[in-house]
Amino acid sequence: MGILDNMSSELVLPPFSSTQVYLIDDEPDILKILSDVVALAGLEAHCFSQADNFINEVHCFEGDNILILDLQMPGIDGIEVIRYLAKMENAPELILMSGQDSAVLSGAENLAVAHELVVRGTLVKPLSVRLLRGLLEPQTLRRSKKWGGKTTPSNIVGVEELREALDQDQFVLHYQAKEEFALTDSTKYSAECLVRWQHPIQGLIYPNRFIELVETQGWMPDLTAIVLKKVANQQREWKKEGLRINLSINVSASDITSLILPEVISRLLADNELDTATITLEVTESELMGELTTSLDVLTRLRLKGVRLSIDDFGTGYSSLLQLYRMPFSELKIDQSFVSKMVVDTEALAIVKACILLGEQFNMRVVAEGVEDFATKQLLAELGCQAVQGYFVAKPMSADDFRFWLARQLKSQA
Ligand code: C2E
Ligand code: MG
Ligand code: MG
Repeated sequence: MGILDNMSSELVLPPFSSTQVYLIDDEPDILKILSDVVALAGLEAHCFSQADNFINEVHCFEGDNILILDLQMPGIDGIEVIRYLAKMENAPELILMSGQDSAVLSGAENLAVAHELVVRGTLVKPLSVRLLRGLLEPQTLRRSKKWGGKTTPSNIVGVEELREALDQDQFVLHYQAKEEFALTDSTKYSAECLVRWQHPIQGLIYPNRFIELVETQGWMPDLTAIVLKKVANQQREWKKEGLRINLSINVSASDITSLILPEVISRLLADNELDTATITLEVTESELMGELTTSLDVLTRLRLKGVRLSIDDFGTGYSSLLQLYRMPFSELKIDQSFVSKMVVDTEALAIVKACILLGEQFNMRVVAEGVEDFATKQLLAELGCQAVQGYFVAKPMSADDFRFWLARQLKSQA
């Protein structure tokens, strides 16, 4: 008799020795697949086709437990189960499942994290058995509970796993074009390097899920070193092919308060026989708020060495005009939250106009990020913005795809 057949009878739970896996899903077929995968992983499964039964029968946990929880169920739903678990001592680690869009899953995940529950992962139906197997493995990460903090998606990855990724360099760079309005030669395009974590099980993970954790763990120097090395290698390779292109690198507060950054960058460029003018460093406006004197020192020396500096996500921080005046920026990037609405929202438009004017006055090149349609691009050109970046121009791409894309653009304008 299978586990499913047992479900209607009174459930007598076995003694808790090793990891126990609880499954709640109202679809019998899914429950069967789940229990088979759990059994294959060498773990014991306890199946519930209704959350009500689980709540009535399971009142405490001992040892290590995992709960695989479907969110949409008739009767008590997954969110109510999360609320129930939040009151328990030693609640199980969660794997959340849903057939709805990923926003539902991430909402439930954020809720669970806010209740200080540990979320091992989320699964979108139809289920991927491979992903589930990965999430059941003992080394799968305990998430966010350890470091607490905000309930944003950036809490989602685990500390040990991230450390391993840094040690083994599981990162790749994607390149997103910036297009200059006024130019028609090969310098019309530059690109921003955006880091992605090539996770062995989860696939590509975007920075909003790990950058904050890198920063709070104090590992930003490691990530920045990886990114810088990749950029230098890529520049060297493209230079051999005759391509000279300015690449922007995102740096964080901890990078620009490290007094050795200017030397690290100039040595790396010299070792690779690259010109400092081929690099732009992007610093988000909010990152500038910390140790102003140190960052002023570092940024000024970088500028002296010929590295260009860009102030990213402009309009979202609180830098005063005086700070902006003091910092040696050569580029200002208007935050996409204003750019994406500027055609339909007069306030957003007013902010974009003010940023362009400010850039002009401070002698900075103004780039609008998050340009997703032709109307926005055209309006920016009319307003005197110098360059645009966004899905309408090009999405971030792998190095090979970007090279191919660029060659096609340059050919079509020749
Ligand atoms: P950012 O530097 O402001 O980069 C722009 C983000 O907007 C990128 O997200 C990009 O993919 C996305 N984007 C570009 N065009 C559009 C558009 O038209 N519409 C919309 N909706 N989005 C667009 P991504 O790659 O997820 O990066 C997020 C942030 O992570 C970056 O924001 C940057 O602050 C940070 N980041 C990325 N790579 C690195 C890195 O190597 N080091 C550090 N410290 N931070 C990084
Ligand atoms: Mg940026
Ligand atoms: Mg930005």
